[in-house]
Amino acid sequence: MPELPEVETVRRGLAPVMEGKRIDEAIARRPDLRWPLPERFAERLTGRRILGLGRRAKYLMADLDSEEVLIMHLGMSGSFRIEQAGWDTLVPGAFALPRSKLEAHDHVVFRLEGGVEVVYNDPRRFGAMLLVPRAEIETHPLFRAIGPEPLGNAFDAAILAAAFQGRKTTLKAGLLDQKVVAGLGNIYVCEALHRAHLSPLRLAATLTTPKGRPTRQAVALVDSIRLVLNDAIMAGGSTLRDHAQVDGTLGYFQHNFRAYDREDAPCVTPGCEGVINRLVQNGRSTFYCPSCQK
Ligand SMILES: [Zn+2]
Repeated sequence: MPELPEVETVRRGLAPVMEGKRIDEAIARRPDLRWPLPERFAERLTGRRILGLGRRAKYLMADLDSEEVLIMHLGMSGSFRIEQAGWDTLVPGAFALPRSKLEAHDHVVFRLEGGVEVVYNDPRRFGAMLLVPRAEIETHPLFRAIGPEPLGNAFDAAILAAAFQGRKTTLKAGLLDQKVVAGLGNIYVCEALHRAHLSPLRLAATLTTPKGRPTRQAVALVDSIRLVLNDAIMAGGSTLRDHAQVDGTLGYFQHNFRAYDREDAPCVTPGCEGVINRLVQNGRSTFYCPSCQK
């Protein structure tokens, strides 16, 4: 699964070519991805103008002038390609794994005014596209139970403390709960906990005072979450710039994680002599330093 920073780098790559543009023609080459495409999908998109391209959790949200929102999820293997006559093909976004460019997996095409084509390619077809009335987004089953955006103003230590109050779950599981905060996955939870020096085994409720206020650890954790996500987005952004003209297949995230996937490696916390341990929590690998994460 792409994590939030990957989706955000895709959004930032697509926004300049899609925002404000009319979809001259939408083409669906098959009736379904992970789920069936919406009824009359191509017809409902053709002729519509894209007012803006946003993101909610790991969903891209194209706001249309039809009062509908085109919701797009990359699934396991989805990617977009930007094609324009006379220009190199661009795959916007920074991915941990290379993306397919096989035309057999091009399932949806948006021909935009000005001659740009945005092509959705997805070999495994776990991705999704939906059309939802703008007024129903907040109550839609995909979004109504999702917590605040980790990079948005609605997420802070007080909100986190309130969500964790009385929770008899670990910090790791608490942060992966999409109702607590949107879009955080295994990698960036491990990274944020390491940066905040908090153990993934600690009880989530320990970040809340008896009166329900955030502890200083809660404040540090929120700062760390924002830092690791912003660093990853910036790293993806720089990959995008640095390699845009080289081979056209831009941007794989450089793996400079501090904890994730570093089992037995020395801890990088200044002054810490520990090594990164791996354990399994809720069926997923957790990487952490028992020496400096308490
Ligand atoms: Zn350490």
